Amino acid sequence: MSIKTSEVDVLIIGAGISGIGAAYHLQKHCPTKSYAIIEARSEVGGTWDLFRYPGIRSDSDMFTFGFNFKPWRSPKAISPGQDIKHYISEAATENGIDKHIVFEHKVLAANWDSASAKWHTEIQNLKTGECCQYVSCFFFLVPVIITTIMVTPQILKALRIFQVK
Ligand SMILES: Cc1cc2nc3c(=O)[nH]c(=O)nc-3n(C[C@H](O)[C@H](O)[C@H](O)COP(=O)(O)OP(=O)(O)OC[C@H]3O[C@@H](n4cnc5c(N)ncnc54)[C@H](O)[C@@H]3O)c2cc1C
Repeated sequence: MSIKTSEVDVLIIGAGISGIGAAYHLQKHCPTKSYAIIEARSEVGGTWDLFRYPGIRSDSDMFTFGFNFKPWRSPKAISPGQDIKHYISEAATENGIDKHIVFEHKVLAANWDSASAKWHTEIQNLKTGECCQYVSCFFFLVPVIITTIMVTPQILKALRIFQVK
């Protein structure tokens, strides 16, 4: 059975602060490049969507933790988590990044194909269980702090080829 295959220039994993930031800079500096963000959750925000316990807040001040393209306007420099989630979500919407996000899809494996010189990424739709594939020139795994990440051994194996640390 053939699975649905989509092709983009850049595939970004995760719609947390890193993924939204990466998408912003990609579309600003490389406006002709196509991209998609694959996000396992149903909303933008990553860490700040996942953790909702009372009192959750940043440790850093938001004036430096925030995006360089979207000034932090709240007077609360150490911010409640829900305000950070709202800020990330707003940044995605304001810049049309939300239209590129494929929610409730999980990256299972990524393999470099030398013949086509492209990444072949296996993705599962978490609502239906169906699998699909994205083919891309670049594979961008952005989450910097592993709080919500679901990186499978197959993804790590693929990254080791390129000595990503
Ligand atoms: C309580 C708390 C306070 C913190 N305070 C600070 C702070 O003040 N300053 C600071 O620098 N850091 C702080 N951190 C760390 C914080 O997590 C990061 O700074 C930042 O939010 C990480 O963003 P990210 O986009 O890199 O990753 P994440 O927020 O982890 O987002 C990754 C996204 O990728 C998705 N994803 C992962 N694997 C897959 C997959 N296989 N397929 C599809 N989607 C996938 C996840 O669902 C998630 O949405 C804090 C963390 C916590 C929990």
